[in-house]
Amino acid sequence: MLTGLQIAVMGGDARQLEIIRKLTEMDAKLSLVGFEQLDHAFTGAIKEKIEDLDFSLVDAIILPVPGTSLEGKVETIFSNEKVVLTEEMISNTPSHCTIYSGISNNYLTGITKKANRRLVLLFERDDVAIYNSIPTVEGTIMLAIQHTDFTIHGSNIVVLGLGRVGMSVARTFHALGAKVKVGARRSEHIARITEMGLTPFLLNDLEQSVKDTDICINTIPYPIVTASVISKMPAHTLIIDLASKPGGTDFRYAEKRGIKAILAPGLPGIVAPKSAGQILANVLTQLLKDDLMKRKGKTQ
Ligand code: NAP
Repeated sequence: MLTGLQIAVMGGDARQLEIIRKLTEMDAKLSLVGFEQLDHAFTGAIKEKIEDLDFSLVDAIILPVPGTSLEGKVETIFSNEKVVLTEEMISNTPSHCTIYSGISNNYLTGITKKANRRLVLLFERDDVAIYNSIPTVEGTIMLAIQHTDFTIHGSNIVVLGLGRVGMSVARTFHALGAKVKVGARRSEHIARITEMGLTPFLLNDLEQSVKDTDICINTIPYPIVTASVISKMPAHTLIIDLASKPGGTDFRYAEKRGIKAILAPGLPGIVAPKSAGQILANVLTQLLKDDLMKRKGKTQ
């Protein structure tokens, strides 16, 4: 249980509602900032304006997945209120206060560092990334169906990268009956791709490997699907780029060649916000419990 913990949940989308639901179930006391238009009431949670929040009582701050903007603004889907997190606010928290976010930027990292508070980035964790790959793959299948006139079954799929997303994508498309080739640069990845019953190739041979591709799914956050690679693809190829913005595809050249290329960020929040929220809620609950236990251990 999280009894005795005072947590500020600031802004966010539908994923945040799962976090609020879970934390209130665990008996934490929540201050919801940037939720005044939310109709649903959660027992143990009160809606507050950021200027009314007593930061000196806050044990943890939970930010939405993107964290803040470079000006400190927190995205609020359920509010028109402008929520800006400042270094001064964080400095007013108790020294054990931890700030949780999906990702960070120079602003957020800077203010937490200056205030000497711990910043935990959930999306850097392997467990979150692996769980998140599940809705990401489902979203990729949705895009493949929406943007092609052929079945996934029997089609030639090239997956670039065998990281946490690439592995789930490759395995799932294989299970759907596609002929899956996976490109990687490390020999242990080539070995794993072979072990999975898929066709491996080295990224150095990418141009050769896309000549009969129906769908190319990129997970590498690096400009890998270059004009030269795209020029070797059949005209009907669909490129689905999952890598974080700006993706790894030369979209300008793809458009010029008439090849459909889609940059598809944030699929978990789009196709399965409830599951994506539960993934974050489960990990957060465990982290908050661990922190609470550690602090209790120290004070005993
Ligand atoms: P990951 O586990 O770090 O995997 C990244 C893969 O890219 C690894 O196979 C890595 O190979 C390869 N790679 C990185 N830089 C490379 C380079 N310069 N040249 C060749 N290969 C390179 O990351 P992940 O969790 O799978 O996520 C992949 C991307 O998808 C990230 O950008 C992430 O933000 C994004 N993502 C998108 C969604 C969505 O909804 N679209 C959802 C989740 C994640 P090595 O091991 O050899 O470095």
